Amino acid sequence: MKTLILGAGYAGLAVATKLKPVSGMQVTMLERYPYHVFWTRLHEAAAHNTKVTLPLAPLLKGTGVDMQNLTVEAVDLDKKEVTTREGQTFTYDTLVVGLGSVTNFYRIPGLAENATELKDLTDAEDIFSFVQRAYDASYTGNRDIVVGGAGLTGVELVTELAQRNEILSKERGLPPFGISLVEAGPKILPVLDDALRAKAQATLDSYGIQTLVGHRLMQATADSVTVQTADGESRVIGAGKIIWTGGIQARDIMRGEKLQKGPGNRVVVDATLRVPEYPEVFVIGDMGLGLNQDGKPVPTTAQHAGQQGRLTGKNLMRLAMGEELEVYEPNTLGEFISLGGLMAVGWMKLPWNQKLAMTGGLAHVMKRASEWRWRSSIS
Ligand SMILES: Cc1cc2nc3c(=O)[nH]c(=O)nc-3n(C[C@H](O)[C@H](O)[C@H](O)COP(=O)(O)OP(=O)(O)OC[C@H]3O[C@@H](n4cnc5c(N)ncnc54)[C@H](O)[C@@H]3O)c2cc1C
Repeated sequence: MKTLILGAGYAGLAVATKLKPVSGMQVTMLERYPYHVFWTRLHEAAAHNTKVTLPLAPLLKGTGVDMQNLTVEAVDLDKKEVTTREGQTFTYDTLVVGLGSVTNFYRIPGLAENATELKDLTDAEDIFSFVQRAYDASYTGNRDIVVGGAGLTGVELVTELAQRNEILSKERGLPPFGISLVEAGPKILPVLDDALRAKAQATLDSYGIQTLVGHRLMQATADSVTVQTADGESRVIGAGKIIWTGGIQARDIMRGEKLQKGPGNRVVVDATLRVPEYPEVFVIGDMGLGLNQDGKPVPTTAQHAGQQGRLTGKNLMRLAMGEELEVYEPNTLGEFISLGGLMAVGWMKLPWNQKLAMTGGLAHVMKRASEWRWRSSIS
């Protein structure tokens, strides 16, 4: 039986590290990078150049998985074929797709052309080098940064940038650059309850970050964004660097006559995370439309991608043994948002569906603990 796993992110790597060599089962993994990226720490790479990668080969030892460093170009479900940019074609009996998501620019004029995303290592490098340039004494351009989107990624990024700003300003004796966070919705971090949101907002304020909620980004040029309030008031904000973290959508790479997609372009899957019309195909992580116990889409997070991956790994082993597949039951264990340095806010699930809210150093430790749990689950 030929099994192909596409992507070694939070979902795909969790699948692969759950596997054991089984006679008759041949598993190949296709991943564009030779390393796993801790995407949840990409904002740290953008602000501080932190290393956020781990080589894949040692993680796959003992799994029987053959990792090939290739970029998938197309997945044809009707032909059961995967083709790569490098010109290879792979066929499969079972396919697992976990190729993640891409930025959604919502066709806002000028945004895709002028904004940096925070979706890849090159984006982090680009932001880091802008900050370095802004603190070069010979730099004469606009030093201010505008970030669009006040969800988890946007807030984690602006707070980390603010920390770096403080350090460099003291070190180089130059005034800090301005940071604005623009959000079309009525509040930052909609995933949090009001009390935790207020803590997060207070932290943004203490860093001097200008937060503009209820301001829709209407247009971007090379050096400015135009924002508009619900009552039509419009304003232009100059920027040396524009960063867009305001939306994602599933990577659009799969083709199939009977393939169905839902919100955010996510592929419709059944209770075992398989595509109903193509039961030999599992779609997991940000690409799949996994549903919770109330029939609502699970959030696109590393936590859920990892859970889906671990379940799919187990289910591949069950398939190989001719056993029934286990059903997906997501479990949101908590949510922690880093606010720069040792500051964070979040909550942890307690028995009987109670939530324990945390702020400050303790929340930071919990955030780090969830990252270490992930590391130990794949090692
Ligand atoms: C800055 C940032 C901060 C975040 N913070 C958090 C957080 O605190 N908590 C949380 O739970 N979630 C967070 N997330 C979201 C989380 O990272 C994603 O939900 C998670 O990575 C989804 O897992 P995945 O396996 O579906 O996709 P990914 O982890 O993105 O993995 C996809 C894999 O596919 C590979 N790939 C993509 N295209 C191709 C191709 N064509 N060919 C071959 N390989 C390919 C990629 O290199 C990657 O290894 C954050 C995301 C970002 C960007």
